[in-house]
Amino acid sequence: MHAMVLDNLASAPAGARLVMSERAVPEPGAGQVLVKIAACAVCRTDLHILDGDLPHPKHDLIPGHEVVGRIIRLGSDVTRLEPGQRVGIPWLGSTCGRCAYCRAGQENLCPAARFTGYDMDGGFAEYCVADARYCFSLPEGYADASAAPLLCAGLIGYRAYRQIGDAKYLGLYGFGAAAHILAQVARFEGREVYAFTRPGDASSQAFARQLGAVWAGGSDEAPPVELDAAIIFAPIGDLVPAALAAVRPGGSVICAGIHMSAIPSFAYELLWRERSLRSVANLTRADGEAFLALTPRIPVVTHVTPYPLQDANRAIADLRAGRLDGAAVLLPEF
Ligand SMILES: [Zn+2]
Ligand SMILES: [Zn+2]
Repeated sequence: MHAMVLDNLASAPAGARLVMSERAVPEPGAGQVLVKIAACAVCRTDLHILDGDLPHPKHDLIPGHEVVGRIIRLGSDVTRLEPGQRVGIPWLGSTCGRCAYCRAGQENLCPAARFTGYDMDGGFAEYCVADARYCFSLPEGYADASAAPLLCAGLIGYRAYRQIGDAKYLGLYGFGAAAHILAQVARFEGREVYAFTRPGDASSQAFARQLGAVWAGGSDEAPPVELDAAIIFAPIGDLVPAALAAVRPGGSVICAGIHMSAIPSFAYELLWRERSLRSVANLTRADGEAFLALTPRIPVVTHVTPYPLQDANRAIADLRAGRLDGAAVLLPEF
């Protein structure tokens, strides 16, 4: 099969490039399914892996953790899925099932968790294997490419979104793949979205307004109202004090990314009066079930820019430069 493989991480840690390679189609082991990939979205986490921001990826990694495809074959001991079925493969690839976190419904924090497209090969390829217990069935009515961004941008975005309680005035910092999905959920639930983009990014601001944001501006601007909560999707630590300053007393700021540049020191006054600051990590299978049941009811419409699989480096460069709205999606059969 064709696969885009992470090359030379040791010698070129910053912005390492993906190289088109020939690989054997993997064999599904016990509990696994073999999936023929139809689409895989590109996530900002993939950029962090390429840039060496996340330590110790698998050697000769195939990245990609927003995978949509059809099951070709079952390994032994798979009962809940069938050949031909369409599935989504998310970032959470497996957990131990025994630790205190797993037993407490916090499998997203399992210290032995393994992640798709990081600890094991992911979806920038024609085929992959996945643990059947962590695959999602996907709502019908979404084309393969449209469903792909739901699997991380949507799903982990939704985990962050669920931390905001009954916030009415919601700030979203960074209006990329995740925010464009969560803005639709927020509007559906009667909240007002205030979208913050890179200063001067008129195109993303227009995109945010199209999706129902009542206000869109640069991250260096103050919103016209005091926010009840803010979610930071952009990996920029400077946004933390900015978001705290925009949130009312008692409000919350949620950091939704897996990596962020250093947070500058800030006056205690910004946190004082019971503002809270927290991060959100990974996903649980329960997050996925809840989100994928909700999306067709709204319905969430994803905006995707498709690329042939072999153009993964171009998709990544476009994502990095903010040249696309919504999500980039790689297609093995373009
Ligand atoms: Zn992701
Ligand atoms: Zn565990």
